[in-house]
Amino acid sequence: MKSQEIRSKFLDFYKDKSHAIVPSSPMVLKDDPTLMFTNSGMAPFKEFFLGNAVPKSNRIADTQKCLRVSGKHNDLEEVGYDTYHHTMFEMLGNWSFGDYFKKEAIAWAWELLTEVYGISKDILYVTVFEGSDDKDKLPMDQEAYDFWKQIIPEDRILMGNKKDNFWEMGDQGPCGPCSEIHVDIRTEEEKTKVDGKDLVNMDHPQVVEIWNLVFMQYNRKANGSLEDLPAKHIDTGMGFERLCMVLQGVTSNYDTDVFTPIIREIEAISGLKYGENEKQDIAMRVIADHVRAVAFSIADGQLPSNNGAGYVIRRILRRAVRYGFTFLNKKEPFIYRLVDILSKKMGKAFPEIKAQKQLIENVIREEESSFLRTLEQGLILLNQMIVNANSKVISGEKAFELYDTYGFPIDLTSLILREKGLSLDEKGFHEEMAKQKERSRAASESSTDDWTVLMDDSEEEFVGYDTLEAKVKITRYRKVTSKKDGDMFQLVFNLTPFYPEGGGQVGDKGYLEDVHGDVIYILDTKKENNVIIHFTKNLPKHLAESFNAVVDKKQRERTAANHTATHLLHQALREVLGTHVEQKGSAVHSKYLRFDFSHFSKMTIDELRDVENFVNARIEGKLPLEEKRSIPKEQALAEGAMSLFGEKYGDTVRSIRFGNSIELCGGTHVQNTADLWHFKIKSEGAVAAGIRRIEAITTDAVKDFYFENNRQFFEMKDLLNNSKEPVKALQSLQDENSALKKQIEQLLKDKAKNLKGDLKSQLEEVNGVQFLATEVDLDAGGIKNLAFELGNEFNNLFLLFGANVNGKAILTCYISKEIVSDTLNAGSIVRELGKFIQGGGGGQPFFATAGGKNPGGIKDALSKAISYLE
Ligand code: ATP
Ligand code: MG
Repeated sequence: MKSQEIRSKFLDFYKDKSHAIVPSSPMVLKDDPTLMFTNSGMAPFKEFFLGNAVPKSNRIADTQKCLRVSGKHNDLEEVGYDTYHHTMFEMLGNWSFGDYFKKEAIAWAWELLTEVYGISKDILYVTVFEGSDDKDKLPMDQEAYDFWKQIIPEDRILMGNKKDNFWEMGDQGPCGPCSEIHVDIRTEEEKTKVDGKDLVNMDHPQVVEIWNLVFMQYNRKANGSLEDLPAKHIDTGMGFERLCMVLQGVTSNYDTDVFTPIIREIEAISGLKYGENEKQDIAMRVIADHVRAVAFSIADGQLPSNNGAGYVIRRILRRAVRYGFTFLNKKEPFIYRLVDILSKKMGKAFPEIKAQKQLIENVIREEESSFLRTLEQGLILLNQMIVNANSKVISGEKAFELYDTYGFPIDLTSLILREKGLSLDEKGFHEEMAKQKERSRAASESSTDDWTVLMDDSEEEFVGYDTLEAKVKITRYRKVTSKKDGDMFQLVFNLTPFYPEGGGQVGDKGYLEDVHGDVIYILDTKKENNVIIHFTKNLPKHLAESFNAVVDKKQRERTAANHTATHLLHQALREVLGTHVEQKGSAVHSKYLRFDFSHFSKMTIDELRDVENFVNARIEGKLPLEEKRSIPKEQALAEGAMSLFGEKYGDTVRSIRFGNSIELCGGTHVQNTADLWHFKIKSEGAVAAGIRRIEAITTDAVKDFYFENNRQFFEMKDLLNNSKEPVKALQSLQDENSALKKQIEQLLKDKAKNLKGDLKSQLEEVNGVQFLATEVDLDAGGIKNLAFELGNEFNNLFLLFGANVNGKAILTCYISKEIVSDTLNAGSIVRELGKFIQGGGGGQPFFATAGGKNPGGIKDALSKAISYLE
């Protein structure tokens, strides 16, 4: 059975059981502070399990793109070494939100596997939670056991411990026992040697878990205790690639049609065969897996970068490059070439990958090249370390620096050291690593209390599109303590005019005032699992009373203007540059807006002008806002609304229209484009391969901008003696300046020449060495030239020069290679003499320099030099 068919059979099966089939949510998460990536099928439905929102159907099924590379689920290091863990994989799942429970979940899973897919019952095992005697004192899951007993022989039902068979969403929240389904796909012969049930949950590559059925029946509170959930839920997850392995009769996920086309392509590019050499096979699996993870992340809007989720993606890609570099001998970018086959094979189920193929290729190629350059640089640094090493062991600190500052992978360091007969202080390295982890953990440490509920009002209505002021009551609050912000309070209201950060737009600020005149400030507003949370430093005195909630009007108005400008800019870019322009990031602040988009070259001055003119024409056109607050998504799209990749839309959406610009958007906007006053682009530049960034301003910020430019212009003109043609005047100043520079260079050269003759005559022979220690009036470059020129004429030279360069002391030591020895070593000499000038330095045994802050010490350093010859 082809993988396409396996996927659709799953969805059809649950559709027949009255499940609504929904598309996969994005793999990269935007408004969940506790999670960077979707790591299981249930993650997009968290708000339903937490009771913060109501699903459109209480039965849902889908296939969800998951990524397990950080946090609680991190399989990255397994990938490539085993044949059934991936970074990115698809999880097939069916959900019941307070509807059916264990009985149906179990019966249907069994029906699907054995009847629809025709998997032999003889290769299946199931597990049931055995109970726990720890502080939770949980009973065994007898209920699940009894349902299983009706369909599978009892000797195939195994008891599982809390680690494997009790599922928790996090430290807090819904949780419950689970039943896993495992397959045993070993040969008959192997089965006679070891009984399958002894291999369940033992990391055997052919006795693996394929499906996990979670029965959510408890809620874990902040203090760790459990309470029964008012409504019980089902959450199941089946690994699609593992299922394909079973149904296609192979013993590795990489031998299914999900992966073989990619592996074939890697073989073609590398000229190597899969299945002939274990190291190469691992590398091929790593690359085949990682290209999927990276390509899908980019398609969802997460580019590789230096921090957060972007850094995780960068590390995945670098891991692939490294395996290609080390085991497939690929020193040039090649992973990007796999995107083509990937988009051909998966583009049907996931159109985002096809639509953005070119961008994905560009980004991956650029990342590959830049990391390959890093690897080359790292190799040079590592070689220097090896040459300069005083012992056979390279310190953990040095290796960590190479890893941390230059991104040079540690396993490559050990490999190269081993080849050169050296070794790495691994313990030291891991200590450095642990120290760094501790530093970042301490910086981000925080604790969250349980909510204190003041009144039960689960629907928190947002009224901020229509009003900036409202009477509100606090429904619940909690304290959050972190190193960074100290104590903060989070408040939830029955209704709120405060816009929570989202869609790139910053959250509202403002204040709450009660009838006694007490005021507390709202510092920020955010949305978390569909709840709008207001952040304050202090808790109001009269918590249970009503408050007048007031949004900071000025900030909101400017932010709204910039949000509207963002839509017009988006439209303008697609008009001027072409429809390949896709929004890749947006930040809407009160003072400016920032817009990232896909485009492959620097914008010309004319293009920038055209874009500005386009937007300004719409401002002058005084286009009114046409808002449709709650219409079916299909209708909005039919009307021509733009939707974005990587964004999670509900079934009903809000559409925002100004003239021909229509976008699905939850943000706040001006009533009329005339409110923007004027639009001005401040900068345009690259953020990544194929991604450009524009920063622009509207309203008051434009006035300030022109005023400031004007001020600078007049000051400049003033400095140019009020020249009528300031540009010309500046140009002639620059010309004059470079002519003078040339003259000075020539003069310095002449001076050095004279100096060289002079110094040569001062050389004195000490113990067979031509020796000179003296102060010279040259800069560092001049001294170096001089030393090497003198060096060319002798093979027994020892020079020490001191110089005072702009109040800083420098010492330069030169020793002919022929006479370098333990005592006559330029590197150690400058290190020692550096203390006279209160500084330090180093270099090679034949040439080294030191710098320091005390020119007064130069004389003493120079007079010490002769002692090295005695
Ligand atoms: P394992 O013990 O094999 O790592 P798990 O207990 O982490 O699995 P769950 O979190 O229960 O798995 O996820 C549900 C299903 O998703 C699993 O039964 C498996 O089929 C699949 N799955 C989990 N992790 C991966 C992965 N890294 N790659 C591919 N499939 C996976
Ligand atoms: Mg796992």
